[in-house]
Amino acid sequence: MVGYPVAHSRSPEIHHAFAADTGVDLVYDRIELTEAGFADGVRRFFEAGGLGLNVTLPHKLAALGVADAASERARQAGAANTLRAEPGGIHADNTDGAGLLRDLSSNLGVRITGARILVLGASGAARGAVAALLSADPGGIVVANRDPNRARRMATDFPQVQVAGYQAADPSAFDLVINATSASLKDSVPPLLDAPCPTAYDMVYRDGPTAFQRWALDHGSPLAADGWGMLVEQAAESWVVWGLPRPETAAALDAGRVFRR
Ligand code: NDP
Repeated sequence: MVGYPVAHSRSPEIHHAFAADTGVDLVYDRIELTEAGFADGVRRFFEAGGLGLNVTLPHKLAALGVADAASERARQAGAANTLRAEPGGIHADNTDGAGLLRDLSSNLGVRITGARILVLGASGAARGAVAALLSADPGGIVVANRDPNRARRMATDFPQVQVAGYQAADPSAFDLVINATSASLKDSVPPLLDAPCPTAYDMVYRDGPTAFQRWALDHGSPLAADGWGMLVEQAAESWVVWGLPRPETAAALDAGRVFRR
């Protein structure tokens, strides 16, 4: 796992739990690389025989840039979180969207097909989410973002998506609101309308409910999940990218999930 900083990452805990369950002999460490040292650090890792890497902030865009080839979902997200060595060089993929979709539909029982979905944020995580959600045939997706240019880029790249300002997107008109902003990391919430909230999902996870989970519950949400399940499921999906068996995720999910009905 490469990031900066990276000491807080709980990914090693998840991957070592998968390794213990599956019997795969795996070492998964944190590697701290600055932006200036990222590309060289990644190449050194693979030259030394590394099988695969996960990449986190702030390097997800650079991870796509360092790769010699990329999956369709990484290109759609404009960012990569999973790298693997191939005979032709480094291959980039993005498992975040698939992880989110699996957490919502398989773990939380949230129906995506036909659902009207409001996505908050328009950066890499939001783009990966939108690409994956579209594959499940939702009833419609509206994206709200602080920076309107970024939101418009999203609508250009995903013509099925509509764009709205935060104050024009009424949460009560949707079946699901997904917070793909990093606002909860600073304990704040995007400037949403003061309206009833449907099922809610925050990509951020922490020890207690996030600011967005608290906001959703205060506004009557029947279910407000954090992003721990997404983290676990994107990790499992990374195993598939690396050519390893797909691990069971139930035990890792129980270890960290914070959500309230
Ligand atoms: P970026 O830093 O690239 O994007 C940040 C996004 O948040 C932008 O859309 C930005 O809007 C918006 N934003 C930040 N602060 C605020 C605020 N106070 N109010 C409104 N909008 C705000 O991050 P990523 O796209 O890579 O990731 C987004 C979040 O998702 C991160 O917190 C990350 O930790 C989490 N994540 C979780 C994963 C998981 O497995 N659980 C996987 C991937 C990401 P603007 O464009 O206007 O600046």
